[in-house]
Amino acid sequence: MAKQCEVCDSKLGILYRKNVCKQCMEKFDKFFTDDSILTLPNLDEKKLVELKKFGKERIISLYDKLLEEYTSDNIMTEEEITNLEKVSKPFELTPDETKHDIIIYPHKIKNYIDKNNSLPTLDYDRFKEFGIRIQDDEEYYSSGVSNLYEMKSHSKYIAGSRGVSIYGFKVGRVQGQRISEQLPVQKSTGKYVLTNKRFYYVSDSYGKMTKIDLKKIMSYDSDPDFLIINTHTRQKPYLFQMSLTNIKTTLIGLDFLLDN
Ligand SMILES: [Zn+2]
Repeated sequence: MAKQCEVCDSKLGILYRKNVCKQCMEKFDKFFTDDSILTLPNLDEKKLVELKKFGKERIISLYDKLLEEYTSDNIMTEEEITNLEKVSKPFELTPDETKHDIIIYPHKIKNYIDKNNSLPTLDYDRFKEFGIRIQDDEEYYSSGVSNLYEMKSHSKYIAGSRGVSIYGFKVGRVQGQRISEQLPVQKSTGKYVLTNKRFYYVSDSYGKMTKIDLKKIMSYDSDPDFLIINTHTRQKPYLFQMSLTNIKTTLIGLDFLLDN
């Protein structure tokens, strides 16, 4: 039986190996390389439906292209987010495929802050499960799973090193010798909560709570997997290991809270 083009139904030659005819492939490539696709009015649903016939990978490539374009200025407008959803929703892209948690969600929070000059308050129930009691005048902002780490010295032989930078701390000596190296060591697994007044951490095993008053924060930063908080009252930094999404949203929250 003669094969048909999956897009336009025209007959395909017996020896033709692809499922889409040459004309359709050309049309598609032109459509896909045309930068005008990135402008909002051109992204209409009919075109997207046509695109789907070329397979989900094509839809994902288009989505990635849009995402790259929209984030190039480090701002993602609500209109751009809506536009991305026009691609992701009908084709049921997964949160991983849409990079929702690591890219879009932090942008949504930034947009919320810009619009309302406040942090989005999240539901309180999830928060109660953590066993952290907040005070009446506190507003709950974000929470999640986190592991507490502590910088620990340990001795190590280095053969003529210039020193290495570990999590932003320069350690090591020039000559080959035994050196004391600082490495993050996990202390406990737990959960964190950020409110407008404090950053809380509670460990799973001991239920031991760490409360960091935002007013006492000297500096904060991130280093791939860690949120690092330096306070006036503690010599060592606090190291909270958490997901990239949680690091991003916590940093956005701290930026806002400590500026206001
Ligand atoms: Zn065709």
